[in-house]
Amino acid sequence: MAQKVQGTEDLYGGYMRAWQHMLDVARDLYGSYGFDQIETPAIEQVDTFVHGIGESTDVVRKEMFRVFSGALLPDVMERGSEAHLKPRQRMAMRPEGTAGVVRAAVENNFVPQGGAPVKVWYGEAMFRGERPQKGRLRQFHQVGVEVLGASDPALDAEVIIMLMQFFERLGFSRDALMLRINSMGDAACRPAYRKSVRQFILDHADEMCEDCLERAEVNPLRAFDCKNDHCREVMTAAPLAKDNLCDDCAAHYAQVKAYLDEAGVAYVEDPTLVRGLDYYTRTVFEVDVAGSGVGAIGGGGRYDGLMELEGGRPTPGIGYAVGFERIYLALKALGISLETSAEPCVYVACTPDQRAKVFSVAQQLRAAGVRTEEDYQGRSLKSQFKQADKVGARICVVLGADEVAAGVATVRDMASHEQVKVPLDELAAYVAPRLAK
Ligand code: AMP
Repeated sequence: MAQKVQGTEDLYGGYMRAWQHMLDVARDLYGSYGFDQIETPAIEQVDTFVHGIGESTDVVRKEMFRVFSGALLPDVMERGSEAHLKPRQRMAMRPEGTAGVVRAAVENNFVPQGGAPVKVWYGEAMFRGERPQKGRLRQFHQVGVEVLGASDPALDAEVIIMLMQFFERLGFSRDALMLRINSMGDAACRPAYRKSVRQFILDHADEMCEDCLERAEVNPLRAFDCKNDHCREVMTAAPLAKDNLCDDCAAHYAQVKAYLDEAGVAYVEDPTLVRGLDYYTRTVFEVDVAGSGVGAIGGGGRYDGLMELEGGRPTPGIGYAVGFERIYLALKALGISLETSAEPCVYVACTPDQRAKVFSVAQQLRAAGVRTEEDYQGRSLKSQFKQADKVGARICVVLGADEVAAGVATVRDMASHEQVKVPLDELAAYVAPRLAK
């Protein structure tokens, strides 16, 4: 039997409707904040991710699914290297959404200098070559937002508030959500801070894991969220970002917190929150659901240097992404279902001699926007009624020879079992409002 790739899922039935529901909530909420939807390609040039996410990150070093066209693959295999390929021939599946959106903004000049900020949201599949486990997939789905062109701390607070509102609209209570925030500094203060963390790791080299020793050289801040408990314990004594911010970053962070306080948004300051991607500057944030066992359900931050890394003019930016699959699991752990019920429908049943009439009545109902089911297997009337029940039909329209001769249909309300006769040419007008109720 053919099998799906490990760490991927099929979305269908209630699970698919849950994903669609999440997209509907996003469209509604982000629309009210003036965001437009964007979709960038699922494959980009590797450089788009390397420049943005950072060469030293796990996502780029270990987790990116690389793409070689069938024509190029034998050549790459034979040489054992892709060094001879042109940059445009080196491709990867997107592991996250921000780098692609920023690349698109640079390429299409979305953010004219001095213009109003650009606000976009997306809902799409992401791909990471991780070891599959609960809440960790190789193809998963994210909804995310990006705002390009403003550095106002009020925007940081607004974006965080929007994130919390999104979670609430999906069914979480505020109490179930833990929002953690931090500031990672910027180009002015981070290099010195990185250096001091590197030195701290080297000073404690005999207490830390191999990975952290490697991190000291390539990405020292990641030692704060090492999977090894002992490393994290050691790192509690390391210099903290919030104590090493330059005046501008400190003022920005203080203002973000003041806006969140004013809006009554509860948060925990977590000086060890560093996030996995290199492009973040200043405000970073993550949201967990206590006891859900799935890790963070969403996170993001400011990335004021990213537009330049992608070859654009200096343009500040901020955004976040949430993971559909983890939200689904976290809600489930709280006894809440993200699944919406199937759309209500009408079932058109008939005696065998009226099959052709069902065909035309069903067409007529569908043209009026009514979700309509019918039988294609020559079932008995009794078994058609059973089928109507099974597909959750609210109304069953019955066409027998007598009805058709009289130009009417028997319309049965599946809940109350009430039956009325309705002229065939008034059927759609009769049924549609009863389904909408
Ligand atoms: P990140 O870009 O890593 O911060 O991811 C943002 C959100 O996407 C996380 O908070 C998760 O909800 C979700 N996510 C990230 N990686 C995965 C994965 N491998 N499988 C499922 N969801 C993920």
